[in-house]
Amino acid sequence: MAGSDDSGHARRLVVVVGHVADADRYRDGDRLCVLRDAADAGALLDAELPRLGTGWRVLAVGTGPDVRAVRAAALARGALAEEVSVRVLDDGAQVRVHCGVCHHGAQARAGDVLECPGCGTALVVTDHESRVHGAVLGAPGVR
Ligand SMILES: [Zn+2]
Repeated sequence: MAGSDDSGHARRLVVVVGHVADADRYRDGDRLCVLRDAADAGALLDAELPRLGTGWRVLAVGTGPDVRAVRAAALARGALAEEVSVRVLDDGAQVRVHCGVCHHGAQARAGDVLECPGCGTALVVTDHESRVHGAVLGAPGVR
């Protein structure tokens, strides 16, 4: 694994989507980047990731959908899953749901049951995250 030379104190690229709520929780040496929209994470990471040496970690901070989008963008750019962590600030928000049947995307709240707009299957919104899709799995409900 790249960057395993740290002593439990890896430097972090902190990607905050929205506003910085608790800046004092970040450590000296953290590189703090604030985005207004998670859709900008790709461009930010394109600029930042090549500058980071080994031992860096990426921490995404924001709502559930935002941190998932940042994480998916980091993974798409070659970051390892162990190198990316998330801190969800508001888990009552809508999440992006990935239909396990037809792979259609939808929005719902965690724990909801929704009808997939793609295939009509009743989906239970699980907390099983697809890091690649930046969404949680919607599983067909058991009848
Ligand atoms: Zn579906």
